[in-house]
Amino acid sequence: MDVIFVDILTSPAGFFFDSAKRVYWLYLLSALLIASFVVARQLGVWRPLEQLKSLFDYRYWFSQSTLLDYFLLFFNNGMRILLLVPLFGSHLALTILVGSFLQDSLGDAPDLEMSWLAIALLFTSVFFLVEDLSRFLLHYCMHRFDFLWRFHQTHHSATVLTPFTLFRVHPVEHILYFMRGLLVFGVISGIFIWLFSGKLTGLQVLGVDAFGFVFNMLAANLRHSHIWLSFGRFESIFISPAQHQLHHSKEHGFSNLGSVLSIWDGWLGTRTYASKREKLQFGLKS
Ligand SMILES: [Zn+2]
Ligand SMILES: [Zn+2]
Repeated sequence: MDVIFVDILTSPAGFFFDSAKRVYWLYLLSALLIASFVVARQLGVWRPLEQLKSLFDYRYWFSQSTLLDYFLLFFNNGMRILLLVPLFGSHLALTILVGSFLQDSLGDAPDLEMSWLAIALLFTSVFFLVEDLSRFLLHYCMHRFDFLWRFHQTHHSATVLTPFTLFRVHPVEHILYFMRGLLVFGVISGIFIWLFSGKLTGLQVLGVDAFGFVFNMLAANLRHSHIWLSFGRFESIFISPAQHQLHHSKEHGFSNLGSVLSIWDGWLGTRTYASKREKLQFGLKS
């Protein structure tokens, strides 16, 4: 038991070395470099010393608002280790269940002549699209329905945005996203295991992160920050950090609910472009 508690307390430190986590050191470093470039461009002058000084400002990292981000990071991580993983098992449990269900009810899958590379690309693309759409839909529901908003407002109560605000979610919201992730991965990989039983290996499953890697390298950490970075015309496809900041603002609120792609917001009419820089106030509307 002692080992588990040590794990709960220390495992968040491992997030910095886990490329599947948004706060992986390389993603933070790339965010830092991009932020530095963006600020220098906005000011018309590059002041590295001042930038470094503001980066180590403890009032930013340890504000009243940010303390709750850290608390929920530890709390939700503990809940996942103690409750969710033992209760629902690993991601692969549902994969095997779905794969064998399809095998039992439909028999052998039709023989699709596809190369290893084509399967990997297809799997990665389908997974990315369904993952992003399902995140969008759940997020949309969290804003649309009062009983879900009650939980989601914890994330929106942040008045200071730091990369750790990503973890500031109510435990109920954490459970909902955990179940969503399990379901999406289990169903899609289960179908692929059935379709390409002999050809799908762990390597393709690793490939799932290819999109995530690119997204995280492109300043995903700046979404929860005060650095205004718009993607210009590309905002009709991808959600920019500035667009997510509009989502957190008291002024805009119910817009830009997507994670990576903004096309879902475009379809439901909730997309707002971050065309001109705005002075925003973050937090809940009073
Ligand atoms: Zn939201
Ligand atoms: Zn957010």
